[in-house]
Amino acid sequence: MSLQVQAQVSLKPFNSFGVDVRAQLFAEAHSDADVREAVAYAAAHDVPLLVIGGGSNLLLTADIQALVLRMASRGIRVISDDGDRVVLEAEAGEPWHPFVQHTLAEGLAGLENLSLIPGTVGAAPMQNIGAYGVEIKDVFAGLTALDRQTGELRDFSLEECNFAYRDSLFKQQPGRWLILRVRFTLHRVAHLHLEYGPVRQRLTEQGIEQPTPADVSRAICSIRSEKLPDPAVLGNAGSFFKNPLVPAALVAQIKQQHPDLVAYAQPDGQMKLAAGWLIERAGWKGFREADAGVHALQALVLVNYGAATGLQLLELAQRIQKDIAERFHVELEMEPNRY
Ligand code: FAD
Ligand code: NAP
Repeated sequence: MSLQVQAQVSLKPFNSFGVDVRAQLFAEAHSDADVREAVAYAAAHDVPLLVIGGGSNLLLTADIQALVLRMASRGIRVISDDGDRVVLEAEAGEPWHPFVQHTLAEGLAGLENLSLIPGTVGAAPMQNIGAYGVEIKDVFAGLTALDRQTGELRDFSLEECNFAYRDSLFKQQPGRWLILRVRFTLHRVAHLHLEYGPVRQRLTEQGIEQPTPADVSRAICSIRSEKLPDPAVLGNAGSFFKNPLVPAALVAQIKQQHPDLVAYAQPDGQMKLAAGWLIERAGWKGFREADAGVHALQALVLVNYGAATGLQLLELAQRIQKDIAERFHVELEMEPNRY
């Protein structure tokens, strides 16, 4: 038996909001055998199992009456290589950004726009992580997950994952699939995505006209570091709300009062609004009550100045939702997973 189960463990170091709640039981899984042991332990002790990675997309609002299993499995391997197209597999517990850096150091392109996202490889498919015009569905080659209903391992293809904007089958069926490892299709010949946000401008400012994937990664890291709070310094879970997809007619209506509204046309005819713009325009940017606040540089990010509870952060988020609904008739959906 290799699984070490501890009782009454503070989860403060294990969630990027830095919220201080306790797990009734806590263990780390370094292998498939640990995962199976944890599933059996939870069943034998009649407690739920909550799987976490880096805790960077969690809002913990109370002590967790469960066995919290932190994925800590490591390993990166080449599955196939045809000279240009390389399929890599990484274990769920691999930290995401170091994995991205590893691929770039190996001369493999595809993940550069997803640089500096906190968390683990295993959680990346949960909300189909995305940034600067790339989502993991764009480089996804498959994954292996444990079905907690049957105890069987199952391989998923791209089509089977139901990936959508910050969404997937795994998010739609919470608790059912325990992702063990993920595969990515990367390329030695890069096809860069530079037309999103300030990426190309940043490269031009640096005098880089023919960027490599590593140049793009560095540019994105520098842009992100300027406006996003580092969770090690200021607790946060990144964007707290998804960017809402709304009908074009609503955009036209809001634009009558707010001609500078930021909205992006989607292939299906809907419009994506920048939730950060709505929240800023409603006056919440920089707001603080006790230790819960809205980041002063990016209104989409809620922050914990130290001792905020998950409930205080949730309450603030609900006040913002209500205000945005009243002002703009737009429903904001929370992005972090709440427990
Ligand atoms: P956790 O927070 O630990 O878990 C998230 C969810 O996945 C939970 O429901 C958990 O139960 C489940 N889960 C975790 N691991 C597994 C597994 N192996 N199998 C099954 N279920 C699992 N997200 C973006 O999409 N784009 C960004 O640009 C981005 N930027 C961010 C910037 C900052 C500063 C922060 C703090 C967050 C940001 N995020 C972003 C959100 C977050 O980093 C990602 O969602 C990340 O993938 C979460 O990984 P994690 O390992 O921390 O997951
Ligand atoms: P930004 O560049 O200030 O842009 C604001 C919003 O407008 C973004 O959320 C983005 O939507 C959208 N946008 C910008 N350019 C676009 C384009 N050309 N086409 C369509 N939509 C466009 O955003 P930011 O806050 O600094 O974040 C930069 C990127 O990192 C974004 O992709 C963002 O999603 C990602 N990010 C995510 C998190 C998270 O926790 N989920 C945290 C930080 C950053 P999208 O969000 O749909 O891309």
